[in-house]
Parts: sequence; structure tokens; C-alpha cells
Amino acid sequence: MRFDDTTVFVTGGASGIGRESARRFAREGATVVAADIDADGAAETAEQIAESDVAGTAESVELDVTDADAVRDAVDATVEAHGLDVMVNNAGISHTSGPMEEVSLTDRDRVFGVNAMGVWNGCRAAIPHLKEQGSGNIVNTASLAGVIGQPWSSAYAFTKGGVAKFTRSIAGELGRYGVRANAVCPGFTDTPMVQGGLEDHEDPEAARESLESQYALKRIGEPEEIAGAITFLASDDASFVTGHELVVDGGYSAL
Ligand code: NAD
Repeated sequence: MRFDDTTVFVTGGASGIGRESARRFAREGATVVAADIDADGAAETAEQIAESDVAGTAESVELDVTDADAVRDAVDATVEAHGLDVMVNNAGISHTSGPMEEVSLTDRDRVFGVNAMGVWNGCRAAIPHLKEQGSGNIVNTASLAGVIGQPWSSAYAFTKGGVAKFTRSIAGELGRYGVRANAVCPGFTDTPMVQGGLEDHEDPEAARESLESQYALKRIGEPEEIAGAITFLASDDASFVTGHELVVDGGYSAL
């Protein structure tokens, strides 16, 4: 019950890592706000939590993280209703795999808008409250791609590297206010984002096997495993951890 009396705002809360993080926070006692551009998916996350007989509670909000005013309004409304202790900026998208020079400017801007500006908007909205409170923390979902790069995913890797270094930068600003900021950097994780990419291959099963063989653990991650890392960073177990890029990659980068 590490998140008793704690309010957590999770973007991208309708699916994958965001949904599992919302569920994990609630299981440990948190009041969770699952925010997502997919209103139905976010509502389903909140319903799953309500039906699962956990100590925490959940509600959902429809939110496009690229809309700075809307993010600020949603975070302010959460603060007003429940307070705010943990901001998880997790919403993200990828783009069609291909050589850098062939990534359309539309795709580039879409990915930059959600992955980079979305995280910026979430932090901009949450930080004044956390600073004033003198406690709390931020967890931003970056990616292994932002640490070691990811060929044929150049715009994605660009934004995720930015998220990781941005997070270290704000950690340096916020420590004096008792506020921590960390980034989680997952390797491939079995969510709709990756499942969609595998389905695009001629032989999705062979593509999955080839991907899994590149991991020391010979499998890709489960969203629950990334949720475990996110909740660790947000908890008092990580009270002396700030400005960290936590790689959770099943040993991909060890091979
Ligand atoms: P997912 O597709 O299952 O979930 C992403 C969620 O973000 C979706 O619910 C989607 O509706 C939401 N979203 C997209 N655009 C949005 C917007 N403009 N405003 C609000 N919400 C929006 O994918 P996932 O794998 O759970 O990804 C979660 C995060 O983890 C992303 O930032 C992703 O880049 C990162 N990540 C994923 C992997 C992986 O292998 N799955 C690896 C490294 C990092």
C-alpha cells in the first residue's frame, strides 16, 4: 500500500503500460486519474479498477496531451478535487518504420507533438502544484530507443532521447523543492503499440521470435513489468532516486 492517500495522474491511461500502471497504483491504494485521447479506453481502465475490489479508486478524463491548455485544465481539476502527488507522462506514439529521410514531416510532427510536447505539457501543468506542495514526483516514459537509439525509428528515438534528458534537467531544478523526476526507458513491451508493428510484418510470428531472440531473457516485456518500474520510481522506495533513466529491457542492452 505504497500509494495510500496519494493521487496519481497517468496519461496514456487507456492502454498498455499506462493502463497497467493505473491498475498497479490503484492496487496499492492510490486515487488514479487515467487520462487519454481515447476516452472509452480510459473509462474502461477506470471501470476495471472499480470492479477489481482494490483499495484505490479511479476516474477517467478525455485528454489530448498535445493541447497545453487542456492538460493544464485537467491537472488543475485533479488538484482541486483530490490534490496531486504523482504525474506520469506516459502517452506516446510511434511512426511507420523507415529511413530517416523518408519519414514524412506529418509523421515527424505528430510524434514530436505527442511524445515530446505532451511530456512538456504534463510537466508544465503539474510542476507548480508539486513545488508549492513541497513534495511529489514525476515519472516520464521515455524508451530504450532514447538511450541507445533505434534505427528506422528516428523521430521516435529523437523524442525519447529528449524526454530522458529533459527529465534529468527538471530533476535538477526540482530537487530543492522536495520533488523528484525520473524517466523509465522500456525495451520492447507487449502492448498494442508493438503488437501493431509486428502485425505489419509478412510473418508476424517470425518477426516476434526474431525480436525476442535479441533479449537476454529471450522475450519482450509485459506492460505489468514496466508498471512495476514506474510505481517503484514514484514510491518512497525510490526516495533518493531522481534524475535517473531507468532502463527496463530484459537485458537487450547487455547482449
Ligand atoms: P499503447 O499504444 O498501448 O498506449 C499508448 C496510449 O497513449 C494509448 O492509450 C493512446 O490512446 C494514448 N495516446 C496517444 N496519443 C495521445 C494523445 N495525443 N493524448 C493522450 N493520449 C494519447 O502503447 P504503450 O506501449 O503502452 O506505450 C506507452 C508509452 O511507453 C509510450 O510513451 C511509448 O512510447 C512507451 N514505450 C513503449 C514501448 C513498447 O515496446 N511498448 C517501449 C518503450 C517505450
